[in-house]
Amino acid sequence: MLVDTHSHLNDPAYDDIEEIVERAEAAGVGAVVVCGYDLPNSVKAVELARRFKNLYATVGIHPSDADTWNDKAAEELVKLSREPKVIAIGEIGLDYHYDNYNKAEQKAAFEAQIRLAGALDMPIVIHSREANPDTFAILKSNANYVKSCVYHCFSGSPDFAKDVINAGYFMGVDGPVTFKSSPKLKRIVTETPIDRLVLETDCPYLTPVPHRGHRNEPAYVRHIAEVVADLKGVSVEELEDITTRNAERLYRVHF
Ligand SMILES: [Zn+2]
Ligand SMILES: [Zn+2]
Repeated sequence: MLVDTHSHLNDPAYDDIEEIVERAEAAGVGAVVVCGYDLPNSVKAVELARRFKNLYATVGIHPSDADTWNDKAAEELVKLSREPKVIAIGEIGLDYHYDNYNKAEQKAAFEAQIRLAGALDMPIVIHSREANPDTFAILKSNANYVKSCVYHCFSGSPDFAKDVINAGYFMGVDGPVTFKSSPKLKRIVTETPIDRLVLETDCPYLTPVPHRGHRNEPAYVRHIAEVVADLKGVSVEELEDITTRNAERLYRVHF
């Protein structure tokens, strides 16, 4: 079986959630992690995890919503984290892509949530966009609080990929690995130890080949698996087993 380790089935793009969940199961995707990015959306992730047996949730405040981080939000996250199928804090991190970001606010929300996850003894899901040096520095200076960690939707240089692996983190691989235009990412995946790779769709975004131009969904994680298996020189079945075990080590659950 495959695991989609990072999805947003809590996104308004999905008004047909039953069919989406059925298609994932039919494609051999035995578990789907639904990641929160703000408080209401984290609540929705938890509700979905309650409703469907193959869905799990993470809860957290994304850097783009760092202005909503405060003590009250922290309290709410702690409450949500006690739900049995909440398996990580995330997605959290830094995102310097859009012009109007507030660095100080993002860093404060990120660091506080790393520490919260540490206190709760929970894994973290990292989102880092155009911010790798700062993201990594904050992770390193809070290393005591980092129990288990995935660098979701990895993008960066081959050298930075090595830093991430040497730090003991997992690397999330998404649809872009299936694009012709991504030789660098293919090389990174080829060179990264197979026991650190986890597969994710980040749906509804980043739709893999051959569905580009359409809404993404967890069933399509199989297309990512096929490309990664090819790059690693293993069968798809082997890759399924290995990446599922990796996902279980990352999230410290038995899917
Ligand atoms: Zn993200
Ligand atoms: Zn995401």
